[in-house]
Amino acid sequence: AHQILKSVYGYDSFRPLQQEIIDHVIAGQDALVLMPTGGGKSICYQIPAMLLDGTAIVVSPLISLMKDQVDALQGNGIEAEALNSTNENYACRSIRERCQRGEVKILYISPERLMSELPWLKQNVKVTLIAIDEAHCVSQWGHDFRPEYTQLGVLKDHFPDIAVLALTATADKVTKADILKQLRLENARVFISSFDRPNLSLDVRKAYRKRERIRTILDVIARHRNESGIIYCLSRKGTEELAAELDKHGVKAGIYHAGLSTEERTRVQNDFINDRIYIICATIAFGMGIDKSNIRFVIHNNLPKSIESYYQEIGRGGRDGLPTETILFYNLQDLITLRKFADESGQREINIEKLSRMQEYAEAQVCRRRILLNYFGETSECQCMNCDICKNPPKHFDGSTFVQKALSAIKRADEQIGFSLVTDILKGSYTAVVKEKGLDKLKTFGVGRDVPANDWHTYLLQMLQMGYIEIAYGEDNHLKVTPLGEDVLYGRKQAQLSVIIREELRVTKRNRQKATLSSADSIQTDDQLLFEKLRQLRIKIARQQNIPPFQVFSDRVLRDLAQAQPQTVYSLDTISGVGIYKKEHYGKEFVKVIREHCGSSTEENEEWTNLNNPNTQQFINLQSELAEKMPKKKAKQRNYVTIKGVEYQIDDDILDSIKWRSIVDNIGKDYYYNLWKDSIYPVKRYVPDDTSDRDKVIARLAEIIANAYGAVVSPDNAWVFLPKRIELDSNGHQVHTLECKSFEDGLRQLQMFIEESGHYPFPDSDEYESSLRRWYQEVKCGIIQATALQQEEFDNIVNLYPKAARTRKQLEKDKEPDKQD
Ligand code: ADP
Ligand code: ZN
Repeated sequence: AHQILKSVYGYDSFRPLQQEIIDHVIAGQDALVLMPTGGGKSICYQIPAMLLDGTAIVVSPLISLMKDQVDALQGNGIEAEALNSTNENYACRSIRERCQRGEVKILYISPERLMSELPWLKQNVKVTLIAIDEAHCVSQWGHDFRPEYTQLGVLKDHFPDIAVLALTATADKVTKADILKQLRLENARVFISSFDRPNLSLDVRKAYRKRERIRTILDVIARHRNESGIIYCLSRKGTEELAAELDKHGVKAGIYHAGLSTEERTRVQNDFINDRIYIICATIAFGMGIDKSNIRFVIHNNLPKSIESYYQEIGRGGRDGLPTETILFYNLQDLITLRKFADESGQREINIEKLSRMQEYAEAQVCRRRILLNYFGETSECQCMNCDICKNPPKHFDGSTFVQKALSAIKRADEQIGFSLVTDILKGSYTAVVKEKGLDKLKTFGVGRDVPANDWHTYLLQMLQMGYIEIAYGEDNHLKVTPLGEDVLYGRKQAQLSVIIREELRVTKRNRQKATLSSADSIQTDDQLLFEKLRQLRIKIARQQNIPPFQVFSDRVLRDLAQAQPQTVYSLDTISGVGIYKKEHYGKEFVKVIREHCGSSTEENEEWTNLNNPNTQQFINLQSELAEKMPKKKAKQRNYVTIKGVEYQIDDDILDSIKWRSIVDNIGKDYYYNLWKDSIYPVKRYVPDDTSDRDKVIARLAEIIANAYGAVVSPDNAWVFLPKRIELDSNGHQVHTLECKSFEDGLRQLQMFIEESGHYPFPDSDEYESSLRRWYQEVKCGIIQATALQQEEFDNIVNLYPKAARTRKQLEKDKEPDKQD
């Protein structure tokens, strides 16, 4: 599995849970996988599909989604097809025939089509597993119920022995239980991965006026030139107005809502996916079928109706893991509109409850990520430092007089006014309605003249949140003073308000570091130039191949290319996200652009066009360079290598062929951390082509590895298979993976441990310490993948305790002087 991950997808390590899920599915067991959008669900069924003999069925609700996935798989050289109503008859026939011959590894199919194809599938196709994507569609509780999905419950009757894998990004408890019930997966194991998406920044702007809002949006767009973003609006009209407004400022944006014709929607969606337009003003109708990995910002022009929808919508941004901006505009009018929708909806109570949770989120005074994660059932106490609250903690002040002024205005108007009239009274504005109702005669008229109108709006939002006022939705949305509000009004209680920060968030040091990570800014101008050239090439190739640009290479790959500037095709191996297939197909063109950029020759017949490293010397040099930095004995080639105390002789005739030690060390290190998977090493790749006696060298190397690590060597010595290693602690118990909810959680546990014990965790202590140690090592060796930001936090913590002992020996040494005292 691991080898497929590298060769097909070009990734170095699995994300948390992926490996476990894959093993589970290959073993024929059912599973329910809950992972956030962009979490990497597809790999969980695609890799088993490739490893198993036969055809995997993937049920997917949207044709566009299927098409993207099939294109992406074919783009990586994998036999995938989709059966749906848009196929021509002859295309279907040929797909069916290829399935029967076992040539199609992954068959995407819509639920209704699956039902009609069941007899044929059972008769003629060797089905390896059934994956049900977007499984929440089966539940009425989910936000996207699809009646066709309810029929999928019969699958277990038809294929009792075949693993069913249900996958979704919707995690609330009711939906989860319902999925298991509807699909009859009583015995399924449930895998829940962290819903945290640390690369999404979270930001809420309250009570912005239209002009401020547009300016903020234009700023965001300017920060992301030639990058994609979505702006969600509440209504169809809203999308059209906003697009027109942007157009006035010279920004072209597409419009997407359910009122447009199917053709029009498809066109807009395709333009967006293919980078022909960068910005979409859309209603929530947009996004379900969008698999675009490089969306760099998501703006909510209006408040979403629930945290689920909000999280799903922002989750469409930054699937490639790069920093992505999200902004939510929050105002009272939206709250009232949404409340009306909820009232009129079939499930009034549930929807009102969901809306108030959304409102709480928008008014939050603690880390917003924490609220989101808690909402999805992950207890988290993080300070994410990537939300507006963490970056700029709210300051409070005694706002009693503000509250009193507002409440008094409401009372004096007999609680018969809505929030805009309250603001008018406080500001002393002689509007038509004010005069008509005689509100200018009130004692409170104009008492809040010194405070800007949208600040009053913000304070009213705060008062609403704190329960001083409520909106009488049934009575024209008039504001009412609550008993708690009266306590403040009559001076029995004090009211704390938070200070309004209206200017752009100040750039703290931390922010600045984060900002430099953002995709375009992260690279210096020269790299940026190269990035742009690579992007142009990507667009060109995408047009030729008729696929979306991000399917050629993701933004992340382009960024890494622009920074690392690999000048040979084979060195693309070091770039995460470049698999063998893509290296073969696009490698040369990209490297050529890089070489041009660097002023290197682009003659074709040179070494740089080779797919595989014609000379591993570079790699070996790097290894020995590293080895040199370590304190060690004289670097003289001995005629033996020592592994775990055992000496392995090397014949004189091959002694100088390669750097034995560094190669063996390197494999040894991989083996040491190879705790949870089998892995395969291509021995030949370590040995340069022009080595004399190459076969003998390879044979001896394979023999040594086999003996030292218990590896199995393939007959032609091409590969060694290292079985996964079970690590035992000093009591003979197996060391387990650290139980942590997220990377941040693991980090916190590590820090707490070091704080308390004064040293790093050791491998042979109690179970907890051993697994903590393992976690620490795995992060250090990149087995647990961390984002740049997480890596930075990890390094920060490690740097905090430079003196803490890292080994037991060191700890004992540290203690010695104490003993003498
Ligand atoms: P979703 O859970 O939304 O279906 P995908 O399966 O589309 O997510 O994966 C999101 C992105 O993450 C894709 O670009 C995918 O290639 C990438 N990805 C998945 N697994 C890994 C991994 N182990 N290492 C690096 N990137 C990965
Ligand atoms: Zn935060």
